[in-house]
Amino acid sequence: RAAEAWEARFGEARTRCGHRVEVAANLGNTAHAADAVARGAEGIGLLRTEFLFMAHAHEPDLDTQVGEYREALDALDGRPLVARTLDVGGDKPLPYWPMPKEDNPFLGLRGIRLALTRPEVLETQLRALLMAAAPADESGKAPAAGVTEKARPLRIMLPMVKDIGEFRAARAIVDRLLAEIPEAERATDLQLGVMVEVPSSALLAASLADEVDFFSVGTNDLTQYTLAIDRDHPELSAQADGLHPAVLRLIEMTVAAAHARGKWVGVCGELASDATAVPVLVGLGVDELSVSARQVPLVKARLREFDLAEARDQAALALAQATSEAVRDALEVR
Ligand code: PEP
Ligand code: MG
Repeated sequence: RAAEAWEARFGEARTRCGHRVEVAANLGNTAHAADAVARGAEGIGLLRTEFLFMAHAHEPDLDTQVGEYREALDALDGRPLVARTLDVGGDKPLPYWPMPKEDNPFLGLRGIRLALTRPEVLETQLRALLMAAAPADESGKAPAAGVTEKARPLRIMLPMVKDIGEFRAARAIVDRLLAEIPEAERATDLQLGVMVEVPSSALLAASLADEVDFFSVGTNDLTQYTLAIDRDHPELSAQADGLHPAVLRLIEMTVAAAHARGKWVGVCGELASDATAVPVLVGLGVDELSVSARQVPLVKARLREFDLAEARDQAALALAQATSEAVRDALEVR
């Protein structure tokens, strides 16, 4: 029984028929990485690095950032870290970055757009991530000569990307850093991907998929921007349901474009932990679900309840509906 409990918690997440779907944790603080692993997370699927910038009176310097990211990678012990670059601006201002007042902050300088106006800050963050993921020995320190190295898989994810132009601008910085930092002192297992949370990036997923290594769908913002409903609106936010067929079609397009080019797709928005949505997302072909650490065991258990054929039926049924209410009615009745 103890072995069963261990397997339920730490075993790979698979559907009943054995189809693999990774379950990772969303984290807002590197100090919580060990707890996520203890709850069975197979990696961190979204590290919201904003915490690091909000917690200080000024931008954290390179050493501070390396220390923080290393803490997460140490706790992960070889599991992948998907770290999102700074996603502030708009409704999430940084006190030490004077920003022009905007009438529509959700449509303003935020995410990658803002980061590209301060390339030196983005560069420091990227450098810190690359350095923190240098191969380490058992002690977590850079290995001495001849000691077996343990890979520290790093996936860097760019927020609020609307098209390939922003991705290329950020990739140019990463490429320059990779050429500059000696190989032994930086990540060797690296992927660079984008969040899909602006509808244009889903519509243009085929163009992005030629160059990105992966996608992670941020259903919170993707729903907000697709339905034109403020995700925090006191009256309307209940209508901002990620199970809306329009949002599901954008996810479907993203997966089709990504898989055609051998790239993977995760979902890191709230929808990934919705019990009704889990089979739909799996049926749409999503490869990874990233949810709050607390929900990792629940999502793993949910995945083990259905098989892939059922999930595909649920996805087809959902896509055939005209409203989110109809989707929930169709799926929840069963
Ligand atoms: C999202 O938009 O779905 C997402 C995961 O990012 P955040 O909630 O941090 O905006
Ligand atoms: Mg978002």
